[in-house]
Amino acid sequence: MKEKLIFDLSRKGRKGYSLSGNDCPELPLESILPSKFLRKAPADLPEVPESEVVRHFVRLSNLNYHVDKNMYPLGSCTMKYNPKINDYTCDLPGFSALHPLQPAETTQGALQLMYELAEMLREIAGMGAVTLQPAAGAHGELTGILLIKKYHEAQGAKRHKLLVVDSAHGTNPASAALAGYEIISVKGNADGRTDLEDLRSKLDGDVAALMLTNPNTIGLFEKDIQQMAKMVHDNGSLLYMDGANMNALLGITRPGDMGFDVMHYNLHKTFSAPHGGGGPGSGPVGVSDKLVPYLPVPIVEKEGTTYKLSYDRPESIGSMMNFYGNFSVLVRAYTYIRMLGPDGLRRVSENAIINANYLLSKLLDSYDLPYPKTVLHEFCLSGDRQKKAHGVKTLDIAKRLLDYGFHAPTIYFPLIVSEALMIEPTETESKETLDVFADALLSIAREAETEPEVVLAAPVTTPVKRLDEAMASRQLNTCCAL
Ligand SMILES: *Cc1c(COP(=O)(O)O)cnc(C)c1O
Repeated sequence: MKEKLIFDLSRKGRKGYSLSGNDCPELPLESILPSKFLRKAPADLPEVPESEVVRHFVRLSNLNYHVDKNMYPLGSCTMKYNPKINDYTCDLPGFSALHPLQPAETTQGALQLMYELAEMLREIAGMGAVTLQPAAGAHGELTGILLIKKYHEAQGAKRHKLLVVDSAHGTNPASAALAGYEIISVKGNADGRTDLEDLRSKLDGDVAALMLTNPNTIGLFEKDIQQMAKMVHDNGSLLYMDGANMNALLGITRPGDMGFDVMHYNLHKTFSAPHGGGGPGSGPVGVSDKLVPYLPVPIVEKEGTTYKLSYDRPESIGSMMNFYGNFSVLVRAYTYIRMLGPDGLRRVSENAIINANYLLSKLLDSYDLPYPKTVLHEFCLSGDRQKKAHGVKTLDIAKRLLDYGFHAPTIYFPLIVSEALMIEPTETESKETLDVFADALLSIAREAETEPEVVLAAPVTTPVKRLDEAMASRQLNTCCAL
């Protein structure tokens, strides 16, 4: 089908809404909207020449910091380069001009893409099935926890506790609380991994699940994962994996094989859809076979060569979002996976790990590293030395990095590392870029020693200087002219 939706509200046209192309008649606007809501006179829109519009947006994009401009070392957030071909496929009219209420006969290509993406994500995770519906990682967590809740309810069990490790992302306890659970924190050990004894002591008959991030937020693989899975399962509990760090695992190992029952992906992290500006995101959830009946509706099903949306799932937790998820992110992730293929995905993770270890080796002498020296895709330094000896906090180091032309890393997270500087270079940075970034951090460490006032006054090169963060959160002003 080649229809294209057109919505023409131009001054002259006022034609309204039409399915152009084949045999669909054009509808007058009055037949779609009640006439009392229609304008009596054309809107007084400003007229600006194209050249000024272009310059305005180019200027704004230059003021802004983005991954097309330079490295974005935000640990845990996987801000990798977003290949432009993702946007090309996303813009294809067969995808971009779809309406979510179009009948399935006219959206077969989109349904096929969703079906195949879910299958690929299922395979990458080693799970039983995947839903594409959740709109972000945190939303995937909530979805996963509701699935866990439904599972226990179906067993007739009332379990009201969720175990969350102390290095977890804040969304883990937040999602657990939103789903009505009591949150019990599990400690990490001196090695930076989950403390098995502490876990054992907290596993009782009220525990619904353990939420774990693997590799964890300091970039370490939970090497006892199979033993932990056994402990959790022997207790009748389930194991949830926060998959935000899948960039370290692609094609190397799979959450399903490690014993996880539920996991979420962050397509906008691992699978290269743009993020950081507030969305849209996508947080597909994979589940093991025993949780498949509870997945949200609709699910894309294939019958012969036809795809359809199935709502016929009596045990489903219901719908987690309007329609089918953030489709444009799904198209980007699909494109990314198809472009790379299985070997390419594995190389993504291998190179992400090599890049992180290379960068860490350059910074080891100048910053403290509280945990082991070999990491997966990210590492967490501490600015303790700089703070104690020179009064320069991690916040100051982060601000000074802006003067060197880099976005700051994630700071003060995870909470188990004091003055944390959490760095994830990703596989898409070249050795040259990593060297320039390392030089910037080494130079800041020297400045902290010899001229700390320079670091404390940073940033000096940015359009706005240090903001009063407390005031900004109380008196939010989003239209301040620069
Ligand atoms: C990013 C992140 C989340 C939350 O994901 P969103 O897509 O931002 O909602 C959860 N856990 C970890 C470890 C993360 O890095």
